[in-house]
Amino acid sequence: MTDVPKSATCSATDMIAPGGTIGILGGGQLGRMIALAAAKLGYKCHIYCPEENSPAFQVANAYTVAAYDDETRLALFAKAVDVVTYEFENVPAQTAKIVAQYAPLRPGARALEVSQDRLSEKTFLNQHHITTAPFAPFATLDELRSAVQKIGKPAVAKTRRMGYDGKGQALIKNRENIDDVMDVTKGADAILEGFVTFDREISAIVARAKSGDVAAFPIAENVHTNHILATTTVPANVKTIVEAKAKIMATKIANALDYIGVLTVEMFISDATGTVTVNELAPRVHNSGHWTIEGAETSQFEQHVRAICGLPLGPTDALGTITMKNLLGSDILDFEKYFNDPKVHYHHYGKKHPRKGRKMGHVTWVETAK
Ligand code: AMP
Repeated sequence: MTDVPKSATCSATDMIAPGGTIGILGGGQLGRMIALAAAKLGYKCHIYCPEENSPAFQVANAYTVAAYDDETRLALFAKAVDVVTYEFENVPAQTAKIVAQYAPLRPGARALEVSQDRLSEKTFLNQHHITTAPFAPFATLDELRSAVQKIGKPAVAKTRRMGYDGKGQALIKNRENIDDVMDVTKGADAILEGFVTFDREISAIVARAKSGDVAAFPIAENVHTNHILATTTVPANVKTIVEAKAKIMATKIANALDYIGVLTVEMFISDATGTVTVNELAPRVHNSGHWTIEGAETSQFEQHVRAICGLPLGPTDALGTITMKNLLGSDILDFEKYFNDPKVHYHHYGKKHPRKGRKMGHVTWVETAK
Protein backbone atom coordinates (compact mmCIF):
# COMPACT_ATOMS: atom_id res chain seq x y z
CA MET A 1 0.00 0.00 0.00
CA THR A 2 1.25 3.48 -0.82
CA ASP A 3 0.24 6.32 1.45
CA VAL A 4 -1.86 9.37 0.67
CA PRO A 5 -2.59 11.71 3.58
CA LYS A 6 -6.24 11.99 4.52
CA SER A 7 -7.44 15.53 3.98
CA ALA A 8 -9.10 17.54 6.71
CA THR A 9 -11.41 19.39 4.38
CA CYS A 10 -14.84 18.31 5.67
CA SER A 11 -16.59 21.60 6.34
CA ALA A 12 -19.84 22.32 8.12
CA THR A 13 -21.64 21.48 4.87
CA ASP A 14 -19.93 18.07 4.80
CA MET A 15 -18.43 18.84 1.42
CA ILE A 16 -15.20 17.07 0.54
CA ALA A 17 -13.22 19.70 -1.33
CA PRO A 18 -10.90 18.99 -4.26
CA GLY A 19 -7.65 17.76 -2.75
CA GLY A 20 -9.53 15.16 -0.70
CA THR A 21 -9.22 11.41 -1.15
CA ILE A 22 -11.87 9.03 -2.45
CA GLY A 23 -11.65 5.35 -1.52
CA ILE A 24 -12.97 2.93 -4.15
CA LEU A 25 -13.81 -0.72 -3.42
CA GLY A 26 -13.04 -2.61 -6.63
CA GLY A 27 -10.27 -2.06 -9.14
CA GLY A 28 -11.88 -2.74 -12.53
CA GLN A 29 -12.60 -0.37 -15.41
CA LEU A 30 -15.39 1.40 -13.55
CA GLY A 31 -13.07 2.22 -10.66
CA ARG A 32 -10.47 3.30 -13.19
CA MET A 33 -12.86 5.71 -14.92
CA ILE A 34 -14.10 7.08 -11.56
CA ALA A 35 -10.45 7.73 -10.62
CA LEU A 36 -9.78 9.50 -13.94
CA ALA A 37 -12.82 11.76 -13.44
CA ALA A 38 -11.82 12.37 -9.82
CA ALA A 39 -8.30 13.39 -10.88
CA LYS A 40 -9.76 15.94 -13.31
CA LEU A 41 -11.56 17.57 -10.37
CA GLY A 42 -8.45 17.49 -8.16
CA TYR A 43 -9.32 14.47 -5.98
CA LYS A 44 -6.99 11.61 -5.19
CA CYS A 45 -8.16 8.01 -5.26
CA HIS A 46 -7.19 5.01 -3.19
CA ILE A 47 -8.33 1.69 -4.68
CA TYR A 48 -9.00 -1.42 -2.57
CA CYS A 49 -9.07 -4.66 -4.53
CA PRO A 50 -7.98 -8.26 -3.93
CA GLU A 51 -6.53 -8.73 -7.44
CA GLU A 52 -2.94 -7.73 -8.22
CA ASN A 53 -2.51 -5.53 -11.33
CA SER A 54 -6.10 -4.28 -11.33
CA PRO A 55 -6.91 -1.76 -14.11
CA ALA A 56 -7.72 1.06 -11.65
CA PHE A 57 -4.33 0.82 -9.91
CA GLN A 58 -2.64 2.30 -13.00
CA VAL A 59 -4.42 5.65 -12.59
CA ALA A 60 -4.78 5.94 -8.79
CA ASN A 61 -2.65 7.63 -6.15
CA ALA A 62 -2.71 4.65 -3.81
CA TYR A 63 -3.92 1.10 -3.73
CA THR A 64 -4.34 -1.77 -1.31
CA VAL A 65 -4.27 -5.37 -2.49
CA ALA A 66 -6.20 -7.27 0.17
CA ALA A 67 -9.27 -9.46 0.59
CA TYR A 68 -12.69 -7.94 1.21
CA ASP A 69 -12.84 -9.79 4.52
CA ASP A 70 -9.48 -8.50 5.78
CA GLU A 71 -10.86 -6.31 8.55
CA THR A 72 -7.51 -4.77 9.52
CA ARG A 73 -6.65 -3.67 5.98
CA LEU A 74 -10.20 -2.43 5.38
CA ALA A 75 -10.06 -0.28 8.51
CA LEU A 76 -6.67 1.17 7.50
CA PHE A 77 -8.01 1.90 4.02
CA ALA A 78 -11.17 3.61 5.27
CA LYS A 79 -9.21 5.69 7.81
CA ALA A 80 -6.97 6.95 5.00
CA VAL A 81 -9.79 8.38 2.83
CA ASP A 82 -12.54 11.00 3.11
CA VAL A 83 -15.36 8.97 1.53
CA VAL A 84 -15.71 5.39 0.29
CA THR A 85 -17.59 4.33 -2.81
CA TYR A 86 -17.67 1.09 -4.82
CA GLU A 87 -17.66 -0.02 -8.44
CA PHE A 88 -19.61 -3.28 -7.95
CA GLU A 89 -22.77 -4.14 -6.05
CA ASN A 90 -21.57 -7.40 -4.51
CA VAL A 91 -19.58 -5.67 -1.78
CA PRO A 92 -20.08 -8.02 1.20
CA ALA A 93 -22.32 -6.56 3.94
CA GLN A 94 -19.55 -6.96 6.55
CA THR A 95 -17.07 -5.09 4.31
CA ALA A 96 -19.55 -2.23 3.96
CA LYS A 97 -20.13 -2.20 7.73
CA ILE A 98 -16.43 -1.97 8.54
CA VAL A 99 -15.58 0.84 6.13
CA ALA A 100 -18.66 2.80 7.20
CA GLN A 101 -17.25 2.95 10.75
CA TYR A 102 -14.39 5.15 9.54
CA ALA A 103 -15.65 7.06 6.47
CA PRO A 104 -19.01 7.81 4.86
CA LEU A 105 -20.01 4.99 2.48
CA ARG A 106 -21.78 6.40 -0.59
CA PRO A 107 -24.09 5.03 -1.87
CA GLY A 108 -25.02 3.58 1.53
CA ALA A 109 -25.51 0.04 2.79
CA ARG A 110 -29.26 0.05 2.02
CA ALA A 111 -28.61 0.31 -1.74
CA LEU A 112 -26.26 -2.68 -1.53
CA GLU A 113 -28.67 -4.74 0.55
CA VAL A 114 -31.55 -4.15 -1.88
CA SER A 115 -29.63 -4.68 -5.12
CA GLN A 116 -27.51 -7.71 -4.13
CA ASP A 117 -30.48 -10.02 -3.97
CA ARG A 118 -32.96 -10.24 -6.85
CA LEU A 119 -35.74 -11.16 -4.42
CA SER A 120 -35.24 -8.16 -2.12
CA GLU A 121 -34.75 -5.92 -5.18
CA LYS A 122 -38.03 -6.92 -6.82
CA THR A 123 -39.89 -6.86 -3.49
CA PHE A 124 -38.56 -3.34 -2.81
CA LEU A 125 -39.55 -2.15 -6.30
CA ASN A 126 -43.08 -3.55 -6.04
CA GLN A 127 -43.48 -1.97 -2.59
CA HIS A 128 -42.79 1.34 -4.31
CA HIS A 129 -45.35 0.57 -7.05
CA ILE A 130 -42.71 0.03 -9.71
CA THR A 131 -43.52 -2.63 -12.29
CA THR A 132 -41.26 -5.69 -12.51
CA ALA A 133 -41.74 -9.11 -14.06
CA PRO A 134 -43.90 -11.33 -11.82
CA PHE A 135 -41.62 -13.46 -9.65
CA ALA A 136 -41.49 -16.29 -7.12
CA PRO A 137 -38.54 -17.53 -5.06
CA PHE A 138 -37.32 -21.15 -5.16
CA ALA A 139 -34.32 -23.26 -4.21
CA THR A 140 -35.44 -26.90 -4.58
CA LEU A 141 -37.05 -28.65 -7.56
CA ASP A 142 -40.37 -28.88 -5.68
CA GLU A 143 -40.31 -25.14 -5.03
CA LEU A 144 -39.44 -24.54 -8.69
CA ARG A 145 -42.48 -26.60 -9.73
CA SER A 146 -44.72 -24.47 -7.49
CA ALA A 147 -43.09 -21.30 -8.86
CA VAL A 148 -43.81 -22.43 -12.44
CA GLN A 149 -47.46 -23.08 -11.44
CA LYS A 150 -47.67 -19.54 -10.07
CA ILE A 151 -45.74 -17.64 -12.78
CA GLY A 152 -46.46 -19.79 -15.85
CA LYS A 153 -44.23 -20.31 -18.89
CA PRO A 154 -42.17 -18.97 -20.54
CA ALA A 155 -40.14 -17.85 -17.55
CA VAL A 156 -36.55 -17.12 -16.62
CA ALA A 157 -34.85 -18.75 -13.61
CA LYS A 158 -32.07 -16.69 -12.03
CA THR A 159 -29.92 -17.18 -8.98
CA ARG A 160 -30.74 -14.48 -6.46
CA ARG A 161 -27.16 -13.40 -5.83
CA MET A 162 -23.95 -12.83 -7.79
CA GLY A 163 -25.40 -13.31 -11.29
CA TYR A 164 -24.16 -10.99 -14.04
CA ASP A 165 -23.97 -11.01 -17.84
CA GLY A 166 -26.58 -13.82 -17.91
CA LYS A 167 -24.64 -16.15 -15.59
CA GLY A 168 -26.77 -18.34 -13.33
CA GLN A 169 -29.81 -17.94 -15.62
CA ALA A 170 -31.99 -20.46 -17.46
CA LEU A 171 -34.88 -19.83 -19.82
CA ILE A 172 -37.88 -22.11 -19.38
CA LYS A 173 -39.79 -22.31 -22.65
CA ASN A 174 -43.37 -23.46 -23.04
CA ARG A 175 -43.13 -27.25 -23.16
CA GLU A 176 -39.67 -27.79 -21.74
CA ASN A 177 -38.85 -30.18 -18.91
CA ILE A 178 -37.83 -27.99 -15.97
CA ASP A 179 -35.59 -30.46 -14.11
CA ASP A 180 -32.42 -29.29 -15.87
CA VAL A 181 -32.90 -25.75 -14.50
CA MET A 182 -31.47 -27.14 -11.26
CA ASP A 183 -28.19 -27.80 -13.15
CA VAL A 184 -27.89 -24.03 -13.53
CA THR A 185 -29.12 -22.80 -10.14
CA LYS A 186 -27.61 -25.82 -8.32
CA GLY A 187 -29.92 -25.56 -5.30
CA ALA A 188 -28.89 -21.94 -4.59
CA ASP A 189 -31.57 -19.43 -3.60
CA ALA A 190 -33.13 -18.38 -6.89
CA ILE A 191 -36.17 -16.66 -8.36
CA LEU A 192 -38.38 -17.48 -11.28
CA GLU A 193 -39.37 -14.42 -13.31
CA GLY A 194 -42.17 -14.26 -15.85
CA PHE A 195 -40.76 -13.74 -19.36
CA VAL A 196 -41.27 -10.12 -20.39
CA THR A 197 -42.02 -9.54 -24.07
CA PHE A 198 -40.29 -6.30 -24.91
CA ASP A 199 -39.18 -4.28 -27.94
CA ARG A 200 -36.10 -2.66 -26.49
CA GLU A 201 -33.91 -2.44 -23.41
CA ILE A 202 -32.98 0.91 -21.94
CA SER A 203 -31.07 2.33 -19.00
CA ALA A 204 -32.19 5.22 -16.87
CA ILE A 205 -29.15 6.70 -15.15
CA VAL A 206 -29.70 9.29 -12.44
CA ALA A 207 -27.48 10.93 -9.88
CA ARG A 208 -28.73 11.97 -6.46
CA ALA A 209 -26.79 14.55 -4.46
CA LYS A 210 -26.44 14.74 -0.70
CA SER A 211 -28.88 17.68 -0.84
CA GLY A 212 -31.52 15.38 -2.36
CA ASP A 213 -31.27 17.00 -5.81
CA VAL A 214 -31.60 14.47 -8.63
CA ALA A 215 -30.29 14.84 -12.20
CA ALA A 216 -31.24 12.30 -14.88
CA PHE A 217 -29.16 11.58 -17.98
CA PRO A 218 -31.02 11.12 -21.28
CA ILE A 219 -32.36 7.57 -21.58
CA ALA A 220 -29.97 5.21 -23.39
CA GLU A 221 -30.89 2.19 -25.50
CA ASN A 222 -28.91 -1.01 -25.07
CA VAL A 223 -28.30 -4.00 -27.31
CA HIS A 224 -26.91 -7.16 -25.73
CA THR A 225 -25.17 -10.02 -27.52
CA ASN A 226 -24.83 -13.30 -25.59
CA HIS A 227 -26.11 -11.45 -22.50
CA ILE A 228 -23.21 -8.94 -22.67
CA LEU A 229 -23.79 -5.28 -23.52
CA ALA A 230 -22.70 -4.71 -27.13
CA THR A 231 -23.84 -1.14 -27.88
CA THR A 232 -25.57 1.80 -26.26
CA THR A 233 -27.19 4.57 -28.30
CA VAL A 234 -28.57 7.95 -27.35
CA PRO A 235 -31.22 9.16 -27.84
CA ALA A 236 -33.13 5.93 -27.22
CA ASN A 237 -35.81 5.17 -29.76
CA VAL A 238 -38.67 5.67 -27.30
CA LYS A 239 -41.60 8.08 -27.07
CA THR A 240 -41.19 11.22 -24.96
CA ILE A 241 -43.72 9.89 -22.48
CA VAL A 242 -41.73 6.66 -22.05
CA GLU A 243 -38.52 8.64 -21.55
CA ALA A 244 -40.26 10.74 -18.88
CA LYS A 245 -41.75 7.68 -17.19
CA ALA A 246 -38.35 5.95 -17.04
CA LYS A 247 -36.69 9.00 -15.50
CA ILE A 248 -39.46 9.40 -12.93
CA MET A 249 -39.16 5.74 -11.92
CA ALA A 250 -35.37 5.96 -11.48
CA THR A 251 -35.75 9.17 -9.47
CA LYS A 252 -38.36 7.55 -7.25
CA ILE A 253 -36.01 4.62 -6.59
CA ALA A 254 -33.09 6.94 -5.76
CA ASN A 255 -35.28 8.93 -3.36
CA ALA A 256 -36.67 5.78 -1.71
CA LEU A 257 -33.12 4.56 -1.06
CA ASP A 258 -32.02 7.99 0.24
CA TYR A 259 -29.31 7.44 -2.32
CA ILE A 260 -26.09 9.42 -2.86
CA GLY A 261 -24.24 8.85 -6.14
CA VAL A 262 -25.05 7.52 -9.60
CA LEU A 263 -27.77 4.87 -9.88
CA THR A 264 -28.53 2.81 -12.99
CA VAL A 265 -31.91 1.22 -13.63
CA GLU A 266 -32.20 -1.29 -16.49
CA MET A 267 -35.65 -1.48 -18.04
CA PHE A 268 -37.64 -3.32 -20.72
CA ILE A 269 -39.88 -1.26 -23.02
CA SER A 270 -42.95 -2.35 -24.92
CA ASP A 271 -43.51 0.11 -27.79
CA ALA A 272 -47.20 -0.66 -28.38
CA THR A 273 -48.32 -0.22 -24.77
CA GLY A 274 -45.56 2.11 -23.54
CA THR A 275 -45.05 -0.28 -20.62
CA VAL A 276 -41.83 0.23 -18.68
CA THR A 277 -40.74 -2.84 -16.67
CA VAL A 278 -37.73 -2.60 -14.38
CA ASN A 279 -35.30 -5.48 -14.86
CA GLU A 280 -32.59 -4.62 -12.36
CA LEU A 281 -30.76 -1.94 -10.41
CA ALA A 282 -27.06 -1.23 -10.34
CA PRO A 283 -26.11 1.06 -7.43
CA ARG A 284 -23.15 2.45 -9.34
CA VAL A 285 -21.87 3.88 -12.58
CA HIS A 286 -22.63 1.52 -15.44
CA ASN A 287 -21.35 0.31 -18.79
CA SER A 288 -24.45 1.77 -20.46
CA GLY A 289 -23.38 5.21 -19.19
CA HIS A 290 -19.91 5.25 -20.79
CA TRP A 291 -21.31 7.33 -23.64
CA THR A 292 -21.56 10.26 -21.20
CA ILE A 293 -17.75 10.68 -21.08
CA GLU A 294 -17.68 12.49 -24.42
CA GLY A 295 -21.42 12.59 -25.15
CA ALA A 296 -22.91 14.46 -22.17
CA GLU A 297 -22.25 17.78 -20.54
CA THR A 298 -21.09 15.95 -17.40
CA SER A 299 -19.93 12.32 -17.47
CA GLN A 300 -21.51 9.72 -15.21
CA PHE A 301 -18.12 9.35 -13.51
CA GLU A 302 -17.74 13.06 -12.75
CA GLN A 303 -21.37 13.14 -11.63
CA HIS A 304 -20.71 10.29 -9.22
CA VAL A 305 -17.66 12.06 -7.80
CA ARG A 306 -19.64 15.28 -7.42
CA ALA A 307 -22.48 13.46 -5.62
CA ILE A 308 -20.33 11.47 -3.17
CA CYS A 309 -18.18 14.51 -2.37
CA GLY A 310 -21.24 16.62 -1.55
CA LEU A 311 -20.82 18.95 -4.55
CA PRO A 312 -23.68 20.19 -6.75
CA LEU A 313 -24.55 17.94 -9.70
CA GLY A 314 -23.56 18.94 -13.23
CA PRO A 315 -25.80 19.37 -16.29
CA THR A 316 -26.71 16.12 -18.04
CA ASP A 317 -27.79 17.03 -21.60
CA ALA A 318 -26.49 14.92 -24.47
CA LEU A 319 -24.18 16.71 -26.91
CA GLY A 320 -25.53 14.97 -30.01
CA THR A 321 -26.38 11.50 -31.27
CA ILE A 322 -24.10 9.03 -29.59
CA THR A 323 -23.11 5.39 -30.03
CA MET A 324 -20.93 3.49 -27.59
CA LYS A 325 -19.56 0.09 -28.56
CA ASN A 326 -17.85 -2.28 -26.17
CA LEU A 327 -14.53 -3.74 -27.26
CA LEU A 328 -14.72 -7.34 -26.09
CA GLY A 329 -11.82 -9.78 -26.12
CA SER A 330 -9.73 -9.48 -29.29
CA ASP A 331 -11.76 -6.45 -30.56
CA ILE A 332 -9.23 -4.40 -28.63
CA LEU A 333 -6.50 -5.47 -31.06
CA ASP A 334 -8.21 -3.52 -33.87
CA PHE A 335 -7.12 -0.23 -32.34
CA GLU A 336 -5.59 1.16 -35.56
CA LYS A 337 -8.94 1.29 -37.32
CA TYR A 338 -10.35 3.34 -34.45
CA PHE A 339 -7.40 5.72 -34.33
CA ASN A 340 -7.83 6.26 -38.06
CA ASP A 341 -11.45 7.36 -37.56
CA PRO A 342 -11.43 11.02 -36.48
CA LYS A 343 -14.91 10.66 -34.97
CA VAL A 344 -13.95 7.89 -32.55
CA HIS A 345 -13.12 8.34 -28.88
CA TYR A 346 -11.08 5.30 -27.89
CA HIS A 347 -10.83 3.85 -24.37
CA HIS A 348 -8.50 1.03 -23.30
CA TYR A 349 -8.93 -0.34 -19.78
CA GLY A 350 -5.29 -1.38 -19.39
CA LYS A 351 -6.05 -5.10 -19.12
CA LYS A 352 -3.42 -7.47 -20.40
CA HIS A 353 -5.27 -10.59 -21.57
CA PRO A 354 -8.01 -10.17 -24.20
CA ARG A 355 -10.02 -13.25 -23.17
CA LYS A 356 -13.18 -13.97 -25.17
CA GLY A 357 -16.07 -11.77 -24.00
CA ARG A 358 -13.87 -9.80 -21.57
CA LYS A 359 -14.56 -6.04 -21.50
CA MET A 360 -11.23 -4.63 -22.70
CA GLY A 361 -12.26 -1.11 -23.73
CA HIS A 362 -14.93 0.85 -25.58
CA VAL A 363 -15.30 3.35 -28.39
CA THR A 364 -17.74 6.24 -28.65
CA TRP A 365 -18.97 8.19 -31.68
CA VAL A 366 -20.57 11.60 -31.07
CA GLU A 367 -22.46 13.12 -34.01
CA THR A 368 -23.22 16.74 -33.26
CA ALA A 369 -26.00 18.59 -35.10
CA LYS A 370 -24.55 20.85 -37.80
P1 AMP B 1 -30.13 -9.73 -16.22
O1 AMP B 1 -28.95 -10.49 -15.77
O2 AMP B 1 -31.28 -9.80 -15.25
O3 AMP B 1 -29.80 -8.32 -16.60
O4 AMP B 1 -30.61 -10.41 -17.59
C1 AMP B 1 -29.80 -10.47 -18.74
C2 AMP B 1 -30.63 -10.29 -19.99
O5 AMP B 1 -31.58 -11.37 -20.11
C3 AMP B 1 -31.48 -9.02 -20.01
O6 AMP B 1 -30.72 -7.93 -20.46
C4 AMP B 1 -32.60 -9.44 -20.96
O7 AMP B 1 -32.19 -9.32 -22.31
C5 AMP B 1 -32.83 -10.91 -20.63
N1 AMP B 1 -33.86 -11.06 -19.58
C6 AMP B 1 -33.63 -11.04 -18.27
N2 AMP B 1 -34.77 -11.19 -17.56
C7 AMP B 1 -35.75 -11.31 -18.47
C8 AMP B 1 -37.17 -11.49 -18.37
N3 AMP B 1 -37.80 -11.61 -17.20
N4 AMP B 1 -37.90 -11.54 -19.51
C9 AMP B 1 -37.28 -11.45 -20.72
N5 AMP B 1 -35.94 -11.31 -20.88
C10 AMP B 1 -35.17 -11.23 -19.78
